[in-house]
Amino acid sequence: MVKSTRLADEFARQAGIASPSFREGEISRYLIERFERLGMTVVMDDAGPKVGSECGNLIATLAASGKDCEPLLLSAHMDTVVPADGVQPVLKDGVFTSAGDTILGADDKAGLAEIIEALEVVREQNIPHGLIEVVITICEEKGLLGAKHLDYSKVVSRRGLALDTSGTDRVINTAPAANKMRIVLTGRESHAGIAPENGVSAIVAAARGIAAMRLGRVDRQTTANIGTIQGGQATNIIPRQVILEGEARSHDPVKLQAQTEHMIACLTDAARSSGQVINGESVSVTIETEVLSDYPCMAVAPGAGILQLVEKAAQHLDRTIELRDGGGGSDANIFNGHGIETVIIGTGMTDVHTINESVRVADMVRVAELLVEIIRLA
Ligand SMILES: [Zn+2]
Repeated sequence: MVKSTRLADEFARQAGIASPSFREGEISRYLIERFERLGMTVVMDDAGPKVGSECGNLIATLAASGKDCEPLLLSAHMDTVVPADGVQPVLKDGVFTSAGDTILGADDKAGLAEIIEALEVVREQNIPHGLIEVVITICEEKGLLGAKHLDYSKVVSRRGLALDTSGTDRVINTAPAANKMRIVLTGRESHAGIAPENGVSAIVAAARGIAAMRLGRVDRQTTANIGTIQGGQATNIIPRQVILEGEARSHDPVKLQAQTEHMIACLTDAARSSGQVINGESVSVTIETEVLSDYPCMAVAPGAGILQLVEKAAQHLDRTIELRDGGGGSDANIFNGHGIETVIIGTGMTDVHTINESVRVADMVRVAELLVEIIRLA
């Protein structure tokens, strides 16, 4: 069935190709050739120039064989975080790590290697299957840019699995939606020592607004943060301008909207109450706000077809699936937003986004076995 040496070799080959976000050209050429060797048709979409990457997203299609069922999408991302240059995967006692000075890139190459191994097994064993689409995105680590610019007209599946979280036999079916916001407060500058009464401090207004906000874990479903603050010029100048950047996330779109409005309202109120009369002229703090919907929420119901499929496959292998809530955005949020009911599956990767990142070969085997069973039952 699943061959652990072949799977480990596949992982090592991919991990040895550095592919930080925007520099996925080499890994994409490798993957095109690899999926074609599996008898698949591979197309690259036009996301590359749109997001500034060396290449676009890949959509590899395996025609149905001996089975008529709904198409199934399998997905992973080909980019990694940094440091990635000169990455050297090291296999010791059944565990892959980097040589120590870079990330390993198991996020998300473990997922890619598992998909490829599962497809090798399906082909070898002549397992009847429906249409399979493998979508490999660029720039997932950079605000899900690849998934956001994916050419969805090239994708037919309405259900999918994204292999992109830690653990094995683990599935994430919900994740919050997020809004990003940028707020500019503008007051009036003046010499802080000679003429402080002629200035209106944007920093004071921002501080009042932030102090009034509900931030952090707002409720069970909602979090919020002001993450950056920039402003002022010197200690002796009353600051004219402050730029704040923040975010809100919630599993409930209504609460997301309410939290976003609350944060803006706190700053608007603070700006209004920070105005002063200077030499008979009323000087207010002005506020400009920009809210960007970063990603929609993922809310795949426990009874959904894709979850039932994963659970049934796990049962066949005598396993139980651990269902979890996600805390952040991933390609799966974007796919769900485009009507592709997608859950996230654990790939075995651990300590991702650090130079201690690792993955056990035995865990990758476990995931590949689950994938084969999912494809068989799909
Ligand atoms: Zn990832």
